[in-house]
Amino acid sequence: MKTLVRWQACRARVVFRAAVLILLAALTVGLVFAGEARAETRWYKGSTHAHSFWSDGDQFPEMVVDWYKSHGYDFFCLSDHNVLMQGEHWRKLQTKKRPVTEKMLAACQKRFGKDWVELRGEGADREVRLKTFDELKRHFDEPGKFLLIQGEEITGKCGEKQVHVNAINLTKVIQPQKAKTVPETISADVEAVARQSRQTGRTILAHVNHPNWKHYDLSAQDLAYAKNATIFEVCNNSGGVSHNGDETHPSVERLWDIANTIRLTRLKSPPLYGVASDDAHRYHKMTSKAANPGRGWIVVRAEELAVEPLLKAVQRGDFYASTGVVLKDVQYDPAAGTLRVDVDPEPSAKYVIEFIGTTRDVIGWQGSPAADPHTGQVLARHEGTSATYHIEGNELYFRAVVRSDRKLDNPPADGVDHKTAWTQPVGWEKHVGKKQ
Ligand SMILES: [Zn+2]
Ligand SMILES: [Zn+2]
Repeated sequence: MKTLVRWQACRARVVFRAAVLILLAALTVGLVFAGEARAETRWYKGSTHAHSFWSDGDQFPEMVVDWYKSHGYDFFCLSDHNVLMQGEHWRKLQTKKRPVTEKMLAACQKRFGKDWVELRGEGADREVRLKTFDELKRHFDEPGKFLLIQGEEITGKCGEKQVHVNAINLTKVIQPQKAKTVPETISADVEAVARQSRQTGRTILAHVNHPNWKHYDLSAQDLAYAKNATIFEVCNNSGGVSHNGDETHPSVERLWDIANTIRLTRLKSPPLYGVASDDAHRYHKMTSKAANPGRGWIVVRAEELAVEPLLKAVQRGDFYASTGVVLKDVQYDPAAGTLRVDVDPEPSAKYVIEFIGTTRDVIGWQGSPAADPHTGQVLARHEGTSATYHIEGNELYFRAVVRSDRKLDNPPADGVDHKTAWTQPVGWEKHVGKKQ
């Protein structure tokens, strides 16, 4: 009897222990699954630079947002000049520049309903009320499908030079800052964005726009020495932005390499990341001369379609810029020193993947990194849809660019003709000083 009780007690203990173990295992598996679920990411396509009737665009903001949403963008940021889409704002229909035509009104009414469009006044005084950011967000946002982010193009000057900086996810308008030099002006704008970010606790991005516009206004030195700037437009597709440079000015892509080389060699500061944008102003006629939508965007890897995860991923450089090339994946392994790029190919398109970087040989050069052949050199070149670059140890940084043999459907004048994707510089961390 005692033996039986002992055996039963023992069996009960075994059963109890087994149950505990199963429970623990289940919990562990659950935790792992939960952890994996949290870490799961996907790519989100978005545009961070476009204009509407709120400044010098030629379309209603809702029609612009509708264009982007219906063309497969996951997130979108309207960035009108020195204004946020806030408050009651009535716009005259009959204006010299960019009038609101009856055809535009009819198209807007057809899309959103007769009651949507609010008009007042008669004849030359007839006005239409512009929808606010909050109204647009309420109408267009769909969880997991589409996200509207508030933006502004801080539009100022330093002497004759145009200094334009996009602020993304701000809540209060930021006036263009004044400073003595171009890099100081850029820095002041970026600092104004950072200040609002600290005050509001929101992540607010700043990207420096179209360096080669209007007359090569921002040099590589300007971009390098505005040290607090972390992002710039490697490809603005509004046309007339001298993307390819000329005999005396570098292309914007080369500018990127020069600026990053100056940063990493002389300033010990991190490189700039590059975004592509439309800077769309014209929505009615698609032509290479017009600043049309649909030419340049970013694709961001994030856990969810929400402002903070998206913008934090951009801050980390976990995104690529594109004018049409879709990447399946970009994997940088810092421990192994490898950068792998996989293209999601278009049928029968051909791709060239170049790994571009500056090597340490440039440090001995006393002249300008702009003239040094080690600046932004092609380190490796592959034909095909995937390639891996293994760090050799001599690189200050490296990045990948994927060029398709397919042209953009509507390439901008003086811009990128062929579909291209740019990944962000990697492998630079050890060249950056602790104190910036
Ligand atoms: Zn601009
Ligand atoms: Zn713009």
